[in-house]
Amino acid sequence: MSLSKRSWLKRWTSLPGYLVSVAVHGLLMLILLHLYLPESFRAFQELIFQPGLSEDSDVFEEFVRSSAVSVENLGFAVATQAAPGQTLPVFEVTPSQSAPLQANPWASVSTHIGAFGDPHVSAFSGRGDGKGALLALYGGSEGSEQAVALGLEWLAEHQNPNGSWSYDFTKSPKCRGKCNNPGPFASANSATALALLPFLGAGITPKSGDQQYRQVVDRGLKFLLQNGQRSREGLSFIDDDEGKMYHHGLAAIAICEAASMTQDATLKEAAQQAVNFICYAQIPADGGWRYEPRDRMGGNTSVFGWQIMALKSGQMGGAQVPSEVFFKAQRFLDTVVGIDQGAMYGYKSSGDLYEDTRSPDNRTRPWTEYRRATSAIGLLSQMHMGWNLDHPSLIRGVEYLSAKGPDPNNLYYNYYATQVMHHYGGEAWRRWNQEQRDTLIARQSLEGHERGSWYFDGPWNDVGGRLYTTSLAIMILEVYYRHLPLYQKQAVEAEFPLD
Ligand SMILES: [Zn+2]
Repeated sequence: MSLSKRSWLKRWTSLPGYLVSVAVHGLLMLILLHLYLPESFRAFQELIFQPGLSEDSDVFEEFVRSSAVSVENLGFAVATQAAPGQTLPVFEVTPSQSAPLQANPWASVSTHIGAFGDPHVSAFSGRGDGKGALLALYGGSEGSEQAVALGLEWLAEHQNPNGSWSYDFTKSPKCRGKCNNPGPFASANSATALALLPFLGAGITPKSGDQQYRQVVDRGLKFLLQNGQRSREGLSFIDDDEGKMYHHGLAAIAICEAASMTQDATLKEAAQQAVNFICYAQIPADGGWRYEPRDRMGGNTSVFGWQIMALKSGQMGGAQVPSEVFFKAQRFLDTVVGIDQGAMYGYKSSGDLYEDTRSPDNRTRPWTEYRRATSAIGLLSQMHMGWNLDHPSLIRGVEYLSAKGPDPNNLYYNYYATQVMHHYGGEAWRRWNQEQRDTLIARQSLEGHERGSWYFDGPWNDVGGRLYTTSLAIMILEVYYRHLPLYQKQAVEAEFPLD
């Protein structure tokens, strides 16, 4: 038994009787609730709530001390960056008067492309004419491009007449059950966004890219714009079923990428409003995001990851994001889910506190536990929010992911980890890419109506179904040009002019 386990036991046995009673009854209620929830809903909860739950069971045992930055260290900049004529939501941020303005103390001054503070540089320009050069430069192949092309064909074939997609694609008129493994949910906003992203990743918009898919993308985007709900908080893409902010995050990414790539005024306005909703929904207590806007349960890293990517994509299209939102998000990573000075990340805070004996004044910090998928999300978010390539925690995190390698079945983990490894580059990326690219190409379905799609057993694959697995697989194979490497953009531009 580890030291940390013993200290848990000690803490538990010293609790007053009534607290133990409350905890036991609470646990019983949770078990009962779990028993009565429909199976499909529980599975969906797993997808949204618990990335990495089934993985790394060894590390679950290992409670590691979370990051070395305390909440008191972090002051918040109260920025007003509203563009003329735009209304930003009211934030419940109390600027710390006593603390100086300070971001992550480990982070050196950010200089790389895409870091916050450098908001208007588009990382999407690799999707245009320079695509072929980037493909060759970063390890794509003829085989990977062929797989992407077939995958896009399958997605287009399963679009609904109203421009949307559904995780349950069996009702789409060209399929009608010819393909297996639909997901159980419609979730029109997130399914549509997830299907649009691989087209956008390939450089296809209503105005540019492969002619045969421009209409497909146009109809999908129009569906999203019509289906979004406007309120004073912004434009929300919350679907009817659970996982609200998860759906919104995905749809916001699609709208923001499309806005950035097209510079279309309608899309840009929608992107700003979708970003505003994310800013509104940020949880004041910990700087994270969860299912519900401003969820009282506190943030989780899975929902957090989609929102950060949406905010960054929004910035690249010119949307304004108050810098306090990023400071609060940084706090979530550093103090709630970050472990080993941010080299790894957990799913959420356990809510328990411990005294950090490494800090000079034994500050109190929350416990968490790290997982593979959430570590990849945390590291990618830190890269987007300003960590440089030589950041010691990033180097350790990449070593950790490298040692794990891509998982042949867990596309969710692979999707994030692949981006981290791609941005990091070098030999580690070469090895990672070769293994993953060739595995994915080999596993694409080539028979019948399923031709071009992917499906295999893996964590949550049955929940999102074939649409989910296909979309993630395509985006992984688009990584060479979908996002320009955060740290090498200028070098690439010098070698392969993209304009
Ligand atoms: Zn089909």
